[in-house]
Amino acid sequence: MSNANQQPNQKFPLQGAEVAVRLVVLGAGESGAGAAYLAQQKGYDVFVSDFGAIADKYKSQLQQWGIPFEEQQHTEDEILSATEVVKSPGIPDKAPIVKKLIEKGVPVISEIEFAARYTDARMICITGSNGKTTTTSLTYHILKNAGLNVGLAGNIGKSFAYQVATESFEYYVLEISSFMLDNMYRFKADMAVLLNITPDHLDRYEYKMENYVASKFRIAQNQTADDYFIYCADDPETIKGMEGKEFKAQLLPFSIEKIVEPGAYLDNQDIIINTSKAHFKMSITELALQGKHNIYNSMASGILAKVLDIRSKTLRDSMADFQNIEHRLEFVAKISGISFINDSKATNVNSTWYALESMSTDVVLILGGVDKGNDYSMLRDLVRQKVKAIVCLGKDNKRIHDAFEDDVDIIVNTSSASEAAMVAYHLAKKGDTVLLSPACASFDLFKNYEDRGNQFKRAVKEL
Ligand code: ADP
Repeated sequence: MSNANQQPNQKFPLQGAEVAVRLVVLGAGESGAGAAYLAQQKGYDVFVSDFGAIADKYKSQLQQWGIPFEEQQHTEDEILSATEVVKSPGIPDKAPIVKKLIEKGVPVISEIEFAARYTDARMICITGSNGKTTTTSLTYHILKNAGLNVGLAGNIGKSFAYQVATESFEYYVLEISSFMLDNMYRFKADMAVLLNITPDHLDRYEYKMENYVASKFRIAQNQTADDYFIYCADDPETIKGMEGKEFKAQLLPFSIEKIVEPGAYLDNQDIIINTSKAHFKMSITELALQGKHNIYNSMASGILAKVLDIRSKTLRDSMADFQNIEHRLEFVAKISGISFINDSKATNVNSTWYALESMSTDVVLILGGVDKGNDYSMLRDLVRQKVKAIVCLGKDNKRIHDAFEDDVDIIVNTSSASEAAMVAYHLAKKGDTVLLSPACASFDLFKNYEDRGNQFKRAVKEL
């Protein structure tokens, strides 16, 4: 096809020769399939290539849309002839095909970068090492309750690109990971939230923290004085990363340690939010989401809401009635006086820290899985204070034994969710909490963290 009718975007117009005509999508998951659909709608010559097997759902979508694709291979001729490539965030730059594209000078972008060319919606973008899904979902809930015409996308639900092709939202709340940010160049967030930065995924950043930090700060790139950058003033890596950097956007920090104005802070039990236009106050006891980490998440969502002029009553009601999402400190059941909590989404040490921090009883902690180079030392104090036993749930648990052998008397190995639930149940007594908050990825024993959480919940209900 020689002339794609892309009408590319009012926001970041592409010029003549820059217009990609042959768009290759690498990776046919949710974002890849959506990007392929949008590209086809805009008149591109589209080809989809996945080095693994494509899930049936996406295969049948591509077939239905008549989009050519291949799986379990990358045919170089098909791919290197692209004028532009949309790459799934799961594929690292060191994948041979990506290396070849980069060497050849073919632009490799993310689905978000691509789809943003075709919408004028205001972009509310949320990133951070932990709390993205929670804050994105909470923000969406508030905006929706306020009656805004808003879509939810990014790492959540239907792909952004598919929604851009099929919906006409005026606002999007997007959960953005660092892998997506790595291939975002011209994209601009009207409102950007950086929740926190703690070591994660360092295997993708040459084990250099500064590379990961730089990736996170891309959330603020291209912002202007009309935009907002919302960040955690208590987060050392964020503050360090901001030093010497120029921000054109209006800065709105949040803190529970000190007063920040404008921004959000804690005054005893009250969250106080001040922007140039608005003032808001709400007791943390009324928040649907409890725990210190959720005060931060609620502050970030609250700032966004006030910048968008959402009425205080709507904001307060929405923050009070939000239903937490699955696998995040999710209460499962109380059996013989023992509470079971599923925090399977805690795939790094920092999120487990917050989970433990929010516990007010003795804990039997289920920990383990695929360790991404964890430093467990930050858990030590909380483990000593609150954890009476550790149940390891992973193929290789040596590092957990090494880390905690001096802190906890009982450390037991298990190799299935039902075994872990059973062992934890026997180790706990009335009034205790069994907490699945593994600090590790799940793919040694499970398909993903959802599978791990679901198997755990099922096992608890069968006790
Ligand atoms: P993400 O989407 O960034 O992975 P989630 O909202 O899914 O984050 O939460 C993942 C885990 O991180 C949860 O289990 C929760 O206990 C923890 N968590 C949530 N918000 C924060 C935060 N602001 N800081 C640290 N940990 C958090």
